[in-house]
Amino acid sequence: MLDFPGRVASLVFTGSCNLTCPFCHNAGLVLDPDSYPDYPLDELLADLKKREGFIDGVVISGGEPTIDTGLPAFLSLLKERDLQVKLDSNGLAPKVIADLLEQHLVDYFAIDMKTSLNRYHELHTMPVATEALSETVDILKQATVEVEFRTTCIPHLVAETEIDAIGELLQGTQLWVLQQYVPLHAMVEEWQELDVYRPEQLYALADRARGYVDQVQVRGI
Ligand code: SF4
Repeated sequence: MLDFPGRVASLVFTGSCNLTCPFCHNAGLVLDPDSYPDYPLDELLADLKKREGFIDGVVISGGEPTIDTGLPAFLSLLKERDLQVKLDSNGLAPKVIADLLEQHLVDYFAIDMKTSLNRYHELHTMPVATEALSETVDILKQATVEVEFRTTCIPHLVAETEIDAIGELLQGTQLWVLQQYVPLHAMVEEWQELDVYRPEQLYALADRARGYVDQVQVRGI
């Protein structure tokens, strides 16, 4: 039950991802999704039914939910049950996001902006199509649903230069959340040892970010 501002929600994880961020906290889901048991759909829906009247909605996270071809059908089932949906995504599948918007299947998008676009190659072993992320940002600038962009501020990956580069992309959006980095469960061992920003450093980055978007929040400190 977490992470859906102002609402009580259940959390559903999907397996696999199209990135391999060294700081990822869900390494098992990303690198070895088959090692997790599949949760049969009817069981999942029965579980949600038990929570009827208690939860307002469901958060879909991962892994990367937009690469799961069953996502729209699953979200339709949630909508038939009058549940609100928050989708966590790395934003690299603009067509999926546009389709979900068109079908009114998501109430709240949380899109990661992990660093400046020219550093995304540090987040994967393969080239990353960062123009797809720009396209997602443009699509969501026009959306009427709630949207937050969020950046985990890892000193190694996000400093003033990157805040400026991301800020330029996000101009005209409403909410940008800067999160504290928690190294403990990082996918790559060396990233578990990294220093984190002191609170005053994170607040200074937030002040800088306020030059670009309507609202900036700091989380995790
Ligand atoms: S995009 Fe998210 S789930 Fe995928 S590897 Fe990066 S942090 Fe992990």
